[in-house]
Amino acid sequence: MKKKPGLSAKKLSRKPAAALKAKAKPRARPAFRFDLGVRAELLLPMKDGPIAIAKNQFLGIKDGVFEVVGPWRPGYEKECTKLIDGRGSLTMPGLINGHTHLAMTLFRGLEDDVPFHVWLFERILPLEAALVSKRFVEDGTNLAALECIRFGVTTVNEMYFYAGATARSWSDAGLRGIVSQTLADFPLPEDKDLGTDKFKIVRELRREFAGHRRLEIGLAPHAPYSCGDELLARVAAEATEMGCPIHIHVSETAREVEESIAKYGETPVERLDRLGILRS
Ligand SMILES: [Zn+2]
Repeated sequence: MKKKPGLSAKKLSRKPAAALKAKAKPRARPAFRFDLGVRAELLLPMKDGPIAIAKNQFLGIKDGVFEVVGPWRPGYEKECTKLIDGRGSLTMPGLINGHTHLAMTLFRGLEDDVPFHVWLFERILPLEAALVSKRFVEDGTNLAALECIRFGVTTVNEMYFYAGATARSWSDAGLRGIVSQTLADFPLPEDKDLGTDKFKIVRELRREFAGHRRLEIGLAPHAPYSCGDELLARVAAEATEMGCPIHIHVSETAREVEESIAKYGETPVERLDRLGILRS
């Protein structure tokens, strides 16, 4: 093996004691340019729409911001506090789940093979009334967070009960999303713990998470068929006043649309429009 150039032990021993002392003094560790670097063999940036893969790229992140996105060059590895070697992998933005109920991971596999109305009204709502609690939501959301991180989902549009418990778990997991409190005319599992004024809860949560970098709190009227006109109109007014998003199930089945036309003379979307939900 070729010997590396430098001071041998013999040469070093001939140096004066003061010089040896100065040599032994630990040097200040240089500040790294990046907190995190990613060596991306295949990068799918999704920038401006087109799906184009760039090869042999580097992403340098400092204080949570991308400082460098460009071709990899040797030496970057020495400028990163931590480097992820993405060779053999595809590097891409986090996936977004546009509609979910995180804590329902605990119901996974239950009642998969029944029609929607049977699934919801005869199976899931009674189960939720019996089992859902703040602790259930915390545990289910924590499990969902681990699964999301494992599979690359970094952002969710979430609606469920105990939105505060969901938001705190989600925030602690370092993930991003809109967490909306479910509202409906049927009794909610948290009525016994939190009272029936869900708008007050949402206002308090919006204050708690005001200015949060990754989370926003919204209103989630469950669906047109489970919310009367009075509740939906109030949601529209409250959302306008609070400046918050609305998350709702709409026209999920042909039966829902038919029943809406029979009962109100309008489709679910037309009804939401009349009640101000689409303009809030
Ligand atoms: Zn849903």
